[in-house]
Amino acid sequence: MSLTRLPSIYFSDEHEAFRKSVRSFVEREIRPNADAWEAAGEVPRALYRTAGEAGFLGLRYGEQWGGSGQDFLATCVLCEELAQGDSVGTAVALLAQSEFALSALADEANDELKRAWLAPAIRGELIGAIGVSEPAAGSDVASIATRARRDGGDYVISGQKTYITNGPRADFVTLAVRTGEPGPRGISLVVFPTDVKGFQVGRRLDKLGARASDTGELFFDDCRVPASNLIGEEGRGMQYILSHFGGERLVIAAFAVGIMQRLIDIGLDYAHERSAFGSKLLEFQTWRHRFADMATRLEATRGLTYQAARLLSDAHPGADLAVSMAKLDAAASVQAVAAEVMQLHGGFGQIEGSPIPRYYRDVAGFSIGAGTSEIMREIISRALVKTKELR
Ligand SMILES: Cc1cc2nc3c(=O)[nH]c(=O)nc-3n(C[C@H](O)[C@H](O)[C@H](O)COP(=O)(O)OP(=O)(O)OC[C@H]3O[C@@H](n4cnc5c(N)ncnc54)[C@H](O)[C@@H]3O)c2cc1C
Repeated sequence: MSLTRLPSIYFSDEHEAFRKSVRSFVEREIRPNADAWEAAGEVPRALYRTAGEAGFLGLRYGEQWGGSGQDFLATCVLCEELAQGDSVGTAVALLAQSEFALSALADEANDELKRAWLAPAIRGELIGAIGVSEPAAGSDVASIATRARRDGGDYVISGQKTYITNGPRADFVTLAVRTGEPGPRGISLVVFPTDVKGFQVGRRLDKLGARASDTGELFFDDCRVPASNLIGEEGRGMQYILSHFGGERLVIAAFAVGIMQRLIDIGLDYAHERSAFGSKLLEFQTWRHRFADMATRLEATRGLTYQAARLLSDAHPGADLAVSMAKLDAAASVQAVAAEVMQLHGGFGQIEGSPIPRYYRDVAGFSIGAGTSEIMREIISRALVKTKELR
């Protein structure tokens, strides 16, 4: 039995056709392999090719680079459906490439860089990562210290990144480096090819959740990269990073929508079958009401997420506020639903081997990655204060 979705005003027939194609990809390519990839701690490289051929890695990007020029609602569809494949790590591995690593390349890089890196990554021939976070600079992006010193026609890069998804296997990193003064204006983005001398992958990090995506430390010791690998203009990296956070945060919110849907569906099936004291669990009013609360939370999160997607697609000035609200709400809602569905499953929910404990672990990081919930509250409250000042 499946929860009936409320009809959505946001999606076109094309979006719905796309949803069907992602759903069959998930059934064919992901769900049967989810356990093996979670255990291996990575997805096979071939999956990027398969996803590239299906058109999933360049949804929003120009057709001349192999993309399909769609809007952020198509990204929502992709994320929601991929996240229902019982391996959030797999969904993370693919979106860390298509959205996180590629968005600045697509929007700010010159055609030469797009030809060399964006187009093959959209085809799934190259794996990309986004490298911003450092051991001493996570939320506070403006304090990154990885240095890129100009030397003739090259940048010479030294420093360290951590928590980099796809990092251990990436062919290139969209890398945030310090090219100038301390603070946000001294930051630039470069395409960093990982076959450069002096580059080393450190530890693969043993994460609580999303275990099918590989996340690791990266070290740079006097690595020479052509200055022509600069994305956009020198000193504007922070601006580019901030402008692309919207897409990253939307991805997390849309993952949460898909996961809530999947968990409620699994939970309803279980509550129909499992009996206690001579009644099905769904006959207890407490569980019927808790399902009512979960379904309502899901629809509220959907509404905020789709609205944020629409505003992002329109490059509306309110998009950052909407996407911050969507991510803040989505992280809290999916964590609450994961805990509730685990409780519903009693002892069974505590045993590895079903999607329940895996999803519970996977969503723990949703209030951390792509900007923590505290940072979302900062952005929202600053916008509120500004609005009040303007009144
Ligand atoms: C699984 C995973 C994958 C990741 N993938 C990537 C990746 O691919 N690329 C990449 O660059 N990074 C990646 N990250 C890093 C991620 O973006 C950071 O972990 C996140 O931004 C938080 O930074 P931090 O861990 O340094 O925590 P900190 O910034 O040190 O924060 C610690 C705590 O302090 C709070 N805090 C910080 N500032 C404030 C404030 N102003 N007001 C109130 N509270 C505050 C935070 O909310 C948090 O609760 C990943 C992280 C994880 C866990």
